[in-house]
Amino acid sequence: MTQTETGENEGLLVRRIRNGTVIDHIEGGEALNVVKILGITGTTQEALSIATNVPSRDMGRKDIVKLTNRELSKEEVDRIALISPHASINIIRNFKVCEKKGVEIPSLIEGLVRCPNPGCISNTNEPIQSKFRVLPKGLHCYYCDWVISKDLTSYIL
Ligand SMILES: [Zn+2]
Repeated sequence: MTQTETGENEGLLVRRIRNGTVIDHIEGGEALNVVKILGITGTTQEALSIATNVPSRDMGRKDIVKLTNRELSKEEVDRIALISPHASINIIRNFKVCEKKGVEIPSLIEGLVRCPNPGCISNTNEPIQSKFRVLPKGLHCYYCDWVISKDLTSYIL
């Protein structure tokens, strides 16, 4: 998809932003989960715009999230890949796209997802952060071998 097409699509739905991040090509219906995985709760500082189920030639429908005055780090960008592997990230400075990056599925997730196993050492009072390997079958707990294969978003801390 070209820059112009993206711009036209978005222009109708969400105002352009001067500085910040536009997360485009999110799987239709996943925008709120993307926001959740970024730790944006509404009490944080970012101004947030969300467009859902925008018609897309490539994807059928897609969601778009815009964050004003916030640039996502590589780590934050890669988290998004867990729920929306085709997302693209545009860093905007002074109304221009300065940087465009894809998301890469990380091989290890630390401290972001809660292990569903109540007996897991990461769920005790021990000062141990949750840790998961990302495997094709799902997220594999480093400590107790539990695998999260679906509904990942309900385990995000
Ligand atoms: Zn575990």
